[in-house]
Amino acid sequence: MPDLVANPASPDTSAPRPAASGLSASAPRTAAIVNLGCKVNQSEMEAAARLLRQGGVPLVDPARGADLVIVNTCTVTSAADEKSRQAVRRARRANPDARVVVTGCSVQVDPSTYARVDPAARLVDNESKAAILTELEALLALDGPGGPDGPGGAAPHAPLAAALPTLSGVEAASPVDGIADDRASVERTRAFVKVQDGCSFHCTYCIIPRARGAERSLAPEVVLADVRRALVAGHREVVLTGINIGTYDGGWSERGARGSHARSALTLAGLVRRLLEETEVERLRLSSIEVQHVDDELLAAWADGGPRTLPHLHLPLQSGDDGVLRRMGRRYTADQYARAVERARRAIPGLAVHADVIAGFPSEDDAAFERSTAFIRGLDPAGLHVFRYSARPGTPATRMAGQVDERTKKARAAELLALAAEARAAFTRRGLGTATRVLLEQRLPDGRWTGHAEDHVVVAAAPRLGDPADLENAVATVRRDGVDPEDPERATGRILALDPPRRVLRAPLPLLAAG
Ligand code: SF4
Repeated sequence: MPDLVANPASPDTSAPRPAASGLSASAPRTAAIVNLGCKVNQSEMEAAARLLRQGGVPLVDPARGADLVIVNTCTVTSAADEKSRQAVRRARRANPDARVVVTGCSVQVDPSTYARVDPAARLVDNESKAAILTELEALLALDGPGGPDGPGGAAPHAPLAAALPTLSGVEAASPVDGIADDRASVERTRAFVKVQDGCSFHCTYCIIPRARGAERSLAPEVVLADVRRALVAGHREVVLTGINIGTYDGGWSERGARGSHARSALTLAGLVRRLLEETEVERLRLSSIEVQHVDDELLAAWADGGPRTLPHLHLPLQSGDDGVLRRMGRRYTADQYARAVERARRAIPGLAVHADVIAGFPSEDDAAFERSTAFIRGLDPAGLHVFRYSARPGTPATRMAGQVDERTKKARAAELLALAAEARAAFTRRGLGTATRVLLEQRLPDGRWTGHAEDHVVVAAAPRLGDPADLENAVATVRRDGVDPEDPERATGRILALDPPRRVLRAPLPLLAAG
């Protein structure tokens, strides 16, 4: 039975709780999904999007009138909360009669605010998010005679033939806000597959453990099935996502204290090996992973994957100053981080290391900030994601002495953003003259195609005479030969060859599992 949370500010609080089908008794004719936040949110909403498509429900722009709008919120910063509330307001304004379902981390930690923002909306807690898929499945009768297989059912699933306008319904935030919303263009090429949820690390600034709960992993069979479904849908690249994916344990491990495992059933490295052995995944990436989880076992599995495991790791750093790291409750020193990066670079040739950094954490004085920037320069990352510290109610960092004023935070974030641009441009220049395989994602107005190379550098390349007009989702071998004058962080290149197109099975997709 789905456990939908009744809206606490509903005018009729004595109204019965929603029935099993909290979305409605009837299937929607059109639906929209507005997604904010991290790759885990993205993977969850991709699952919902695929299900709706499978059921023959067109996904429309949330501003254009939808029967059903699902808003997946984020609370990583106060700006993310505000954007989430705005998204709900906009969804309701544009769709006054729609069923609006609000879920995700922001509504989880502050449901009463959302109840005021839209008293008619259904609020669904994170624990029950999977129930949305179960309800959609029931509403769309996907397993029944009227489902896609049966007479009169919806059309069988086709490869994702049109971009998902719904997934770009919220404007992209600046990198400082830490909210990415660039997924419309990557929906058909990369699939974000969730392997794990929650976190028990309790970094002192982070509200995610409260919003997402303790860590838990999906069983390997579930992940394998999701990856196979993504491949069937035509995706050429799979990104394994989770809140703290290095704690992946196969889903049935004995629990230890504070996020440790007394006994692990399967490690992330073991999962990677199974994916490589048991699926035809062509390109595998990891979303961000805590540096202490990048151990020899994982590096060996990654190195053994050859061209299928991409040379790119996103390792949150947060600060290069040991005092700040300690007060953040991070579980490494700057030196341990640097040594782990060194080991990873030795194991994986051409590795691109991206790091996250927070500007203006309480107690970060000028000297600590300078130590941190010096450390980052020495690290020579391929990319840097910059966040401004944002006090999240109830977290220990809000009570710490030495809160940094907003002006200083902004100035430090600006300095870090400049460093990030320099680092990306330098890494892009270093790759010139090399051939790399690029997953083409988007056509530029000048006719060139851009996409991410194996090392995550964005490359723009002109098609050759005789290349197909539509190269979206093609994997091209590209020689990087210059830096784009319009964007110093983008390489330009020549297409040398195209991989054969991926065979897309036309069989209806089975349901996606959600953790
Ligand atoms: S590891 Fe730390 S920052 Fe990451 S989700 Fe867990 S508590 Fe938050």
